[in-house]
Amino acid sequence: LEAKEEFRHKTLATDVMRPRRGDPLLSVLTESGMTVEEVERLITDTTYSGFPVVISQQSPRLVGFVLRRDLVISLENARRNQEGVVSMSPILFTECDPPMSPSAPPAVKLHSILDLSPFTVTVHTPMEIVVDIFRKLGLRQCLVIQNGRLLGIITKKDILKHMAQMANRDPDSILFN
Ligand code: ADP
Repeated sequence: LEAKEEFRHKTLATDVMRPRRGDPLLSVLTESGMTVEEVERLITDTTYSGFPVVISQQSPRLVGFVLRRDLVISLENARRNQEGVVSMSPILFTECDPPMSPSAPPAVKLHSILDLSPFTVTVHTPMEIVVDIFRKLGLRQCLVIQNGRLLGIITKKDILKHMAQMANRDPDSILFN
C-alpha cells in the first residue's frame, strides 16, 4: 500500500498534460502578429475550448488564456460591426497598440477577452496537488509551464480519464511497474 501511495504521488503534471509525444503541437495564439483569417482558421480547424496566448511562437511565454466562445463572438462582432475589418486585419491581445503603417487594415483588439492570470503548474507538480487545486478552485483547465515556457494543458476531462485509467489497472502493475 505504501508503494501505491508512492506511485500516486509520483504521477506528475507532465504525465497527464497534452499534447502527448507524437500528438499535434499545442494550439496557441500569439499576442500580436496573427491575422483575423489565421485565427478564424484555427477556430475551424480545432475544437478546443480555449487557447493559450503566448508572446510569440519562438518565445512560448504565457501571456494569458482565451476561451473559444469569447473568440468566436468577438471575431463575428468585429467582422459585422467594426469598420474596415478584413481577413488580413491584425489581431491584437496586447494592451497597447504596436506601431502600424497608416495604410494597414484596422486591428481587432481582443485584450478585454484575455484571462491574464490563467492557473498554471509546472511539469513537476504532483497530480495529487493538481487534482486538489482543480477541486478547490473549480478549474476547467490549467496550463503547464517549464522554466517559463508553456509546454501543455490539462483539462478536467484529462484528469478524469487519467483517474479512470489508474482505477482500471491491475493493482499489481501499479505496485511493481
Ligand atoms: P475537454 O478535455 O473537456 O474535451 P477540450 O476540448 O478543450 O476540453 O480539449 C480536448 C483535448 O485537447 C484535451 O485532452 C486537452 O488537454 C487538449 N487541448 C485543449 N486545448 C488545447 C490546445 N489549445 N492545444 C492542444 N491541445 C489542447
